[in-house]
Amino acid sequence: MAFEQLIGQKDVKDKLNRALETGRLGHAYIFTGERGIGKKTFAKEFLSAAMCTNRTGSCRCGKCRSCTILEEGNNPDLLTITAADGKSFISVDRIRDDIRETISKAPNFSAKRVVLIEEAEKMNEAAQNALLKTFEEPPEYAMIILLCDSLLTMLETIKSRAVVVDLKRNTDAEILERLGKTENANGGGSVSNELVLAYADGIMGRIDDIIGNGEAMEKRRELSKLLPGVFDGDIEAKNKVKDMIDAKSRQFDFIFFSMTSFVRDAMVLARFGRRTKIINADFRDELFALGGSVGYYRLRDALESIDTCYKNLGRNAVPDLTVDNMLIRMGMREETGY
Ligand SMILES: [Zn+2]
Repeated sequence: MAFEQLIGQKDVKDKLNRALETGRLGHAYIFTGERGIGKKTFAKEFLSAAMCTNRTGSCRCGKCRSCTILEEGNNPDLLTITAADGKSFISVDRIRDDIRETISKAPNFSAKRVVLIEEAEKMNEAAQNALLKTFEEPPEYAMIILLCDSLLTMLETIKSRAVVVDLKRNTDAEILERLGKTENANGGGSVSNELVLAYADGIMGRIDDIIGNGEAMEKRRELSKLLPGVFDGDIEAKNKVKDMIDAKSRQFDFIFFSMTSFVRDAMVLARFGRRTKIINADFRDELFALGGSVGYYRLRDALESIDTCYKNLGRNAVPDLTVDNMLIRMGMREETGY
């Protein structure tokens, strides 16, 4: 069976294996689910089996021309479309011209000619309408696969003509299984299971943000040292934290997660005592001290400021001002009335 080396997503595997086994493949698929959930991994496994000319059951052979050149990354029967560098949209021209041209020709080496559109939510309505034209009477060999974080961004007319493959959050056991594999590949683990489970929150791809990546853990350590200064209104500490927050960085989400979970842990320790269960148990002493000096209510207000800042940055508010505002609020000491 295909997908055997991938962890979890049993319903998705069953559905796709059945389609591959019976050969009843759709012309259009939408793989959907949150960022990092594994859409691309599953789609690639699926399309390589669909393209294989010598498939056994649902498994690609790994030896035919289609399989070998796909593995090398140069199978001309696969067209991958992504938003051009840094662009926030996929142009109508790419959809209209490139896809039409690809699909007008029979495959050279494979059983299918496949168009994979990554970040399909970056197609505006005009681009989606252009895509719809190719959906109308596709040739037998054509297959279009869309990857998108949320189905809400897709036109009803597109959704109704495609098979929707909905990837769900993984269980903690599945996250830990994958963590074990990743740590073995990286030579031993240095991150606690509690931290990984809390950060991953069921999303496999988030493991890669923190494992095998000393930088993320180093930044977390640095942040833990800077937080007391931020609450004291110390300018240097604030500037250093500000430098760590870069929306384009791979660690962006993890930095915010760390800041949120440090503050929440400190708050919990301040209220319920030193031995309360927390996520960042490796910083228990520091967080207990922070909880004692800053106090429950200021920490609670800080959590709100952090959350607002995180949401605003996601909405492309002016980054400098948004982060400044958060750090200033965290450093404020006026009485809150409690
Ligand atoms: Zn093959």
